[in-house]
Amino acid sequence: MKIGLLINENYEYVIDLFSQHKDTGFVITMLIDRNPFTKDVEVLDNGMIQYSFTYFLENKSSFVDGVFIVTKQVGFVQNDCLKLYKRGIKNIFIPYPIIIEQKKDFFKDYKDTFSSQYVYRPSFDKPFLFRVEAHSVDRCNLNCNGCNNMTPIDCYDKEPSCDSFLNDMIQLHNLFENICIIGIQGGEPLLNIERTLEFAKIARKYFPLSDIRVLTNGLLVPKMPKYFFDELSKINVTIHLSIYPVTEKILDKIISKFKESNVNYYVAGGGKKEVFYKRLTLESDNDENYNNENCISTNIHYLRDGFLWKCPSSALVKNLDYKFHTKLYNRYGGIDIHTLKNGWDIFYKLCEACYLCKNCSVKNRKSFEWSNDKKHTLSDWII
Ligand code: SF4
Ligand code: SF4
Repeated sequence: MKIGLLINENYEYVIDLFSQHKDTGFVITMLIDRNPFTKDVEVLDNGMIQYSFTYFLENKSSFVDGVFIVTKQVGFVQNDCLKLYKRGIKNIFIPYPIIIEQKKDFFKDYKDTFSSQYVYRPSFDKPFLFRVEAHSVDRCNLNCNGCNNMTPIDCYDKEPSCDSFLNDMIQLHNLFENICIIGIQGGEPLLNIERTLEFAKIARKYFPLSDIRVLTNGLLVPKMPKYFFDELSKINVTIHLSIYPVTEKILDKIISKFKESNVNYYVAGGGKKEVFYKRLTLESDNDENYNNENCISTNIHYLRDGFLWKCPSSALVKNLDYKFHTKLYNRYGGIDIHTLKNGWDIFYKLCEACYLCKNCSVKNRKSFEWSNDKKHTLSDWII
């Protein structure tokens, strides 16, 4: 099967793996780069031909039998799959991001096709979602300036609920054939380990193959009881550790705690210190379609109390309105998954720009260094 490799990063080891498994009949014949600034056609130093994603879709899609999507956590996969499918490509292979992040062998247990444990192959009989995030705890012990989850200015009057999460997972299970990544986060999920564990168990019950991960800033890890990590390990849930300057100081203790149990862990960004980005604007005159194509949150959906939102910001921006009296939030901007019961309708809606995309400027997003001086002004979030 002639394969186009849709790349983002971390793909060199993937090329090596394919060449070690030529007997499977899979041959990479071209690279496809989804970076919008890449050249239409380029011959790389290793002799491979690379096309831009747009050029590939318009000119080269009939030259491959399938596309293998190599991504870490970026949130474009759902939209990209839709474009490939519309171009007639039915053989789409999505290795679970944790497999790529940890450079694991996705040819393991290969038998006529990839093991479903390592590679998801959308059937398109039912829709899928690439990534869904849910808060198990709204509060955080770090309260970083400009937190994307708006934790320092949280205005939810109710804590996240296991009953609500259970109902939502059942409904998502009915509507979708898979969710590639389910992120259980906050806030800081380790501030309530019983609820976080319950969320993880519910998610695993309804999505047996998903890459489920608990995202933490790590500060509480050394104080955690071992059983918490043992339980996560039993249900194959990964700990995703984000490194902040304060985390870095106790990194050794954190890693030894993980090693005490057998829990799978992943250190985000290879252990680099966090750089934060802001892209929200008070003016709603930005190019929503450009943003929808290029924002890394475009397929990172947020689940809360029966509603799916395009991205965390579209749900959580209500905190900004509450704290700073801005007028950004649209309470009708989320999708009621218990009312709109057609998974494809939800899928297509989530692949489009949402109401808030006009209030973001992906082109002019600004990076800033991490801090948590607790002042929390509007300019922490607005460019
Ligand atoms: S650690 Fe994460 S969730 Fe907590 S305040 Fe910082 S960015 Fe937000
Ligand atoms: S609202 Fe902003 S953050 Fe969310 S998907 Fe649109 S551009 Fe991205």
